[in-house]
Amino acid sequence: MTTPFVESPVHAEIRALARKFARQELAPHVEQDEADARFRPELIQKLGELGLTGVPVGETYGGAGLGYSEYIGALEELAAVNTGYAISVAVTGLSQVILEKYGTEEQKQRYIPSLAAGQSIGAFSLSEAGSGSDAGALRTTAVRDGGHYVLNGTKLWTTQGDSASTFLLMARTGEAGPRGISTFILEKGMPGFRCGKQEKKMGCHTSHTMELILENVRVPAQNLVGREGDGFKIAMSALDSGRITIAATALGVARAALEVAVSHAKQREQFGKPIGEFQGVSFMIADMAVQYDAAKLLVQRAAALRDAGHAFSQEAAMAKLFATDMAMKVTTDAVQVLGGSGYTQDFPAERYMREAKVLQIVEGTNQVQRVVIARALLKD
Ligand SMILES: Cc1cc2nc3c(=O)[nH]c(=O)nc-3n(C[C@H](O)[C@H](O)[C@H](O)COP(=O)(O)OP(=O)(O)OC[C@H]3O[C@@H](n4cnc5c(N)ncnc54)[C@H](O)[C@@H]3O)c2cc1C
Repeated sequence: MTTPFVESPVHAEIRALARKFARQELAPHVEQDEADARFRPELIQKLGELGLTGVPVGETYGGAGLGYSEYIGALEELAAVNTGYAISVAVTGLSQVILEKYGTEEQKQRYIPSLAAGQSIGAFSLSEAGSGSDAGALRTTAVRDGGHYVLNGTKLWTTQGDSASTFLLMARTGEAGPRGISTFILEKGMPGFRCGKQEKKMGCHTSHTMELILENVRVPAQNLVGREGDGFKIAMSALDSGRITIAATALGVARAALEVAVSHAKQREQFGKPIGEFQGVSFMIADMAVQYDAAKLLVQRAAALRDAGHAFSQEAAMAKLFATDMAMKVTTDAVQVLGGSGYTQDFPAERYMREAKVLQIVEGTNQVQRVVIARALLKD
């Protein structure tokens, strides 16, 4: 495929490490594990041993001490084989990014090293049944009781809620709306904290999506992240970073679809020649490649801005919007290039299409990205 941007040796090394892992460790199981909805936590541990579960986190806490510019290459390579594992790594990374930015020294030292090493898995639990896009309307409560907060409610859609041991969970400590929300660290096994139903989804089956039930869960007050009322701000700032990782994941699944389409267009013959020689097919492939490269540049820009310490919220939303819409289009076109075969499970194109769809929804739907971008442009 094309290379829209010259990568530094470190970028290239991280990308090559992730590519080798994805091809050797993920690829052999991926179709069966997708069919069985099987997630293998031991693969996260192996990724940790390679330093790929804590790429953007400081070395003080066991991370690789690199930036999002390197991180996006690793996520793209994982997603080119399976979106579910890219999302797992991204969510485990998100917990670390929140703790590193907003946690106390004690919280950082207690939770980040095992997440960065892939020895434990992290989860980010904001959404509820009544509050998805309108996350500020969440209803799970956290009431102070001496040295603890007592949490009650039901969270929905928590990625890897069944395998995570560290949860960054948002609950209401005060007034209605965003300003009454706080962020807490919850640990697996806290009394009253359990998984409810597992969602049956269209795709991304290796990534489990869980309901979480909280019944009088007593969380030590020292597990509050930041101050009371900071929770929504923390969640939104985390999502700015998370959107770059979802956009990188979209690059991976789109590239895989493009590769399948190119290979098929060279091999499949109709009317006595390879279908890639028909302009109707070759132009589709050319457009797929241009869209992929354009998305990649937007993702690299957002990552570079973040790494340089500049504001990047609008650019992250642009990258997420464009890259995930691109992935949906490219994966759909790949199915078209494969014709009837594209609609069967004999080829991975239909899986890529199902995996791409969720990327337009998570970490803020693409309508919400437009709200973020427009708001930034139209503010006084
Ligand atoms: C597989 C999967 C994994 C997920 N993982 C997590 C996770 O780990 N943690 C977590 O907290 N959440 C997670 N989510 C939840 C996800 O973030 C929400 O699904 C998403 O934010 C949308 O919320 P909703 O589903 O309630 O849709 P709604 O908010 O009900 O939206 C429905 C439709 O209305 C549109 N809409 C809503 N508001 C507006 C508006 N103001 N302007 C224009 N259009 C609007 C939306 O774009 C969408 O098309 C996950 C979801 C899925 C599917």
